[in-house]
Amino acid sequence: MTRKGWCPGALRPMPAGDGLLLRVRPHCSRLDPDQGTGLVRISESFGNGQLDLGSRATLQLRGVREGSLPEVHRRLQALDLLDPDPRVEARRNIMTTPFWREGDGTLELVRRLEEALLNAPDLPPKFGFAIDTGECPALQDALADIRIERAGKDLLLRADGMARGERVEPQAAMARILELLNWFASCGQARMAKAVAAGIVPALHADAAPDPQAPLDEILRAAPLLFAPFGAVTSQILAELTGSALRLTPWRAVLPEGHARSELWLTDPSHPLLRVSACIGAPGCASSSVETRALARDLAAIVPEGRHLHVSGCGKGCAHPAPAHVTLTGREGRFDLVLNGPAGGKPALCGLTGIDIPDMMRGHLGS
Ligand code: SF4
Repeated sequence: MTRKGWCPGALRPMPAGDGLLLRVRPHCSRLDPDQGTGLVRISESFGNGQLDLGSRATLQLRGVREGSLPEVHRRLQALDLLDPDPRVEARRNIMTTPFWREGDGTLELVRRLEEALLNAPDLPPKFGFAIDTGECPALQDALADIRIERAGKDLLLRADGMARGERVEPQAAMARILELLNWFASCGQARMAKAVAAGIVPALHADAAPDPQAPLDEILRAAPLLFAPFGAVTSQILAELTGSALRLTPWRAVLPEGHARSELWLTDPSHPLLRVSACIGAPGCASSSVETRALARDLAAIVPEGRHLHVSGCGKGCAHPAPAHVTLTGREGRFDLVLNGPAGGKPALCGLTGIDIPDMMRGHLGS
């Protein structure tokens, strides 16, 4: 079992305030209807009925009882949602674009990468891949260390933090990725972008730039995505959609392959509740001294369109590791306010209470 702060998996669950948290990594970031239905049943029978859509296109089961783990693992295995061992699970950190099309090679690419990773060196826990080979680039802002994108008929292999990448023929891609992984494993860095920023640059031929990505809000408006505030769903809410296969995304949203719709999901990406992010906070996470999501819901109405408020239970910033326009970080029962920074950033104001915050927020968000 993992300790707090580790990167959890299904085989390495993380203790949280509401029980064990198991992060499930569906192959190709996709749940078929049987898998979706199976996860709903597992959540209801062995968890607390709460699930999270993760920022790496994963799904997390919450509140799982320790004594239920063997049966939960048996069921996940039957659904093809469990890796053979924790080392394989830890390396298989692959986010797949939800915008792949049948026959475009994306699913084959992911399967070949999964096979190649069986022979990869051990990598830092958060090290991951973005397979962005759909009809248009969409994952350029998503967290990943190695990006695989399109370059005409070839692929573009790009290290995070580098503007250009190496053009490779699809058949040669896995060999080059393994070379890159072996190099990274020996360079002593935790994340690729940090290594590149420090001048520790892999020996890739940086001979092509990726296709430019449209602004993310345009991408989200154009796709028939269904959003969950805070990425939090109950088993009943997920069950509304399990008649379709679901493509998971890094945007707290799913893309149903059929025409599944439900009033329990949001369809408008500009909805005020989607301008705020918040981790589970207290009492769901023992690291938090503050309740987060009720405050974020209350404040959502005063967050103008195009602005982002993040309410974090502590400086770790799990729900949104990147900077936000305003971040409220819980500390000793009160909040620090960070401007244009992440949860652990330098606060502009400290010791705020729920009563102080709305007026402060209006000033800083221009609402
Ligand atoms: S950011 Fe939130 S979920 Fe993450 S450790 Fe802190 S309180 Fe817990």
